[in-house]
Amino acid sequence: MAQREWVEKDFYKELGVSSDASTDEIKRAARKLLAQNHPDRNPGNPAAEERYKAVSEAKEVLTDPAKRKEYDETRRLFAGGGFGRGRFGNFGGGGGNFRGFGGDGVEFNLNDLFDAAGQTGGANIGDLFGGLFGRGAAQPRPSRPRRGNDLETETELSFMEAAKGVMMPLRLTSPAPCTNCHGSGARPGTSPKVCPNCNGTGVVSRNQGAFGFSEPCTECRGSGSIIEHPCDQCRGTGVTTRTRTINVRIPPGVEDGQRIRLPGQGEAGLRGAPSGDLYVTVHVKPDKVFGREGDDLTVTVPVSFAELALGTTLSVPTLEGKVGVRVPKGTSDGRILRVRGKGVPKRGGGRGDLLVKVKVVVPPNLEGEAKEALEAYAKAERASGFDPRAGWAGA
Ligand SMILES: [Zn+2]
Ligand SMILES: [Zn+2]
Repeated sequence: MAQREWVEKDFYKELGVSSDASTDEIKRAARKLLAQNHPDRNPGNPAAEERYKAVSEAKEVLTDPAKRKEYDETRRLFAGGGFGRGRFGNFGGGGGNFRGFGGDGVEFNLNDLFDAAGQTGGANIGDLFGGLFGRGAAQPRPSRPRRGNDLETETELSFMEAAKGVMMPLRLTSPAPCTNCHGSGARPGTSPKVCPNCNGTGVVSRNQGAFGFSEPCTECRGSGSIIEHPCDQCRGTGVTTRTRTINVRIPPGVEDGQRIRLPGQGEAGLRGAPSGDLYVTVHVKPDKVFGREGDDLTVTVPVSFAELALGTTLSVPTLEGKVGVRVPKGTSDGRILRVRGKGVPKRGGGRGDLLVKVKVVVPPNLEGEAKEALEAYAKAERASGFDPRAGWAGA
């Protein structure tokens, strides 16, 4: 994300929220605007498309606490008209790096910055502002093309798909490189030319007193090139709206609500810049048999009192077929038996465990031989001296 653009963009205004809005407020406002301006709902409406992109960008920055802090600091530094009105000078390359300043919450004012730069023989202010300034009047750097925005989408998985991993198609509507001009923005057969105003650097310099001043070039809006014959299909932006289906590999073991990052599958960058990333939030449908506790798979198996008292071997389902789980005699109701390595695959390799919980089911209508036998058993039980409430605090 190029901070030089942050100076010119008011993301809070874009979303219609105050600068102290909570992340939730920002998300709500962004979601509403994204829905209103979604390309699917506004086919062939360039204004909505622009707004959609602008809102996506604002949301991306303001909902990420680290990015928001950086944005706020960058904006604060230039509040009161620094950039664009030429109050800032050029600083030579070399020397230290100012990144530690704003990031650590240390206050500094413009004069300190000038002094520090002067005394250290030119600190690398360019690193702090992401190429906002040239590296000295003699060798201004061309501005880098802007990387595409990250995209967000959601998908629903079955419990098994989430546990075992799955390859699934995902339909996305997003800006993509224009196929007509291959993202250059120039009509096929023509090409963008170097901006004569800034010689392709994207910035213009002028001298005033002891300092040289840099401003973004107004002719090419800082891009360094001018498109004389814009592509008809993308109006020179190099980007068109495209619906595409990509096959996404969901790794095994994802959990409900987890966000997966797919590098380079996001929005195309302007004029051939790298694409952003795609973030997929997965929703996992609950399963009738299994539950999850982190990497452990849970299952509750109904058993009879006799099975627990006498011991048995249960046939228990796993992610792949069934396993026999031995229940020792005298197992109490509700006990959890652990089967190692039969759980959910872990991110770093290996697997969690299968946790088998036994739960007694009591026959609702006991009759005949079984009833007689149980009555005889109850008698024998009392005679043996067994008291289920022995040692119970409520006795
Ligand atoms: Zn085009
Ligand atoms: Zn220019």
